[in-house]
Amino acid sequence: MKYFLYIYGCQMNISDAERIEAVLGSLGYNKTKLCDDADLVIFVTCSVRQSAEDRVWGIVRNLNRLRSKGKKLKVILTGCMALRKEVVRKMTGVDIFLDIKDLNKLPQLLGIKPGKEEIESYLSVKPKYENKFTAYVPIMTGCNNFCAYCIVPYVRGREMSRSPQEVIKEVKELIKKGYKEIILLGQNVNSYAPELKIQSSELRTRSKNSKLLKITDFPDLLEYIAQLSGNFWLSFLTSHPKDLSDKLIEVIAKNPRICPYINLPVQAGDDLILKKMNRKYTVKQYKLLVKKIRKSIPEVAISTDIIVGFPGESKKQFLNSVKLFKDMKYDMAYLNQYSPREGTASAKMKDTVSHAEKERRDKELDKVLNKTALAINKKLVGKVLDVLVERKGKSDLWLAKTKTFKVVKFTSDKNLLGKFVKIKITKAKSFGLEGDSVDSLNSI
Ligand code: SF4
Repeated sequence: MKYFLYIYGCQMNISDAERIEAVLGSLGYNKTKLCDDADLVIFVTCSVRQSAEDRVWGIVRNLNRLRSKGKKLKVILTGCMALRKEVVRKMTGVDIFLDIKDLNKLPQLLGIKPGKEEIESYLSVKPKYENKFTAYVPIMTGCNNFCAYCIVPYVRGREMSRSPQEVIKEVKELIKKGYKEIILLGQNVNSYAPELKIQSSELRTRSKNSKLLKITDFPDLLEYIAQLSGNFWLSFLTSHPKDLSDKLIEVIAKNPRICPYINLPVQAGDDLILKKMNRKYTVKQYKLLVKKIRKSIPEVAISTDIIVGFPGESKKQFLNSVKLFKDMKYDMAYLNQYSPREGTASAKMKDTVSHAEKERRDKELDKVLNKTALAINKKLVGKVLDVLVERKGKSDLWLAKTKTFKVVKFTSDKNLLGKFVKIKITKAKSFGLEGDSVDSLNSI
């Protein structure tokens, strides 16, 4: 039996897919690279943008055509789309709509006898990691924030934190296997709140100086992992600005293993729009937070997410976003044109900004971002940076990333995949760097 997997959306979906693959593997399924060969097609879906949903609808329609010609096939839809009533109602050709939290029921849903191992909760499933040196480790799922435009709390449900011992066990195994990069995941990692009752004596691990270490929040967990021995980078995604604490900033600042990279979605640069978005901070508070982060972690790179054309956003309010971008000088930003998602609070608001105007606003912010990112990157020219080699390009070209999540291109005739290398930066672009391997420079 063969399965084919389509994955859309965020890193959490990539991580979920790794757990689905592990369960399918235990049931005797093998992965195929060709959808046409598959007996089972699984969609791990995203509902954040309409375009991602449209792609899934298109592929399911094609599969329906194949089935009408006699192809035997089962289709599973999981992820955010699977939990939206309007999708479930309208999408024909899907055999199983799977809430990922019910992953333990998958064997039963497929009519197969489950393996010997009982699945306690879906996050306790040991994933089949796709990558050999970077691993995503979810520490929590769900969200309680209900930002007006966001579907996540409706589809992923309320926040649920994994127990620290489970997270630490997974991380320790990864380090033992030689993983070089551990990325802790959560819709808002700062709300990580393990239930104290599940913190058994086993968890009350003794730290090096013999003090009882109790993990009660995200900074505690991050620091504990950062102090494990091994050769790895540690980072996390993502943070709601209202919850990013001084304690977290301190932990990042004093633990060199933690990547100095923070994704801090601002979403709008105008207080009234932020209020309508239910973001629960003001522009002033956000700016103060960034100032504090930069003061404590001077080498930090900050990226953001922003929406243009939120219902009612006037030109003047948009210009406040432009001003914020100029002030903040982001390293990177994910620009999104607002599109209403059925079921959210903002879907009931009038979508007042035209598509053309959203495009224009998007381009304007992009221009500012290009300038600030280039200015920051130019300062790196001449410096020697540690990078993790992620991909091979054509001939001797390699693509790596810095500890601040910047892409670096360099050439080498050695196989450096998954290795840490020192690179002297020779050229800067807005969204990338070029350089020479210090090893090769030394051998000249
Ligand atoms: S914090 Fe807001 S934007 Fe992020 S997942 Fe929760 S509701 Fe969505």
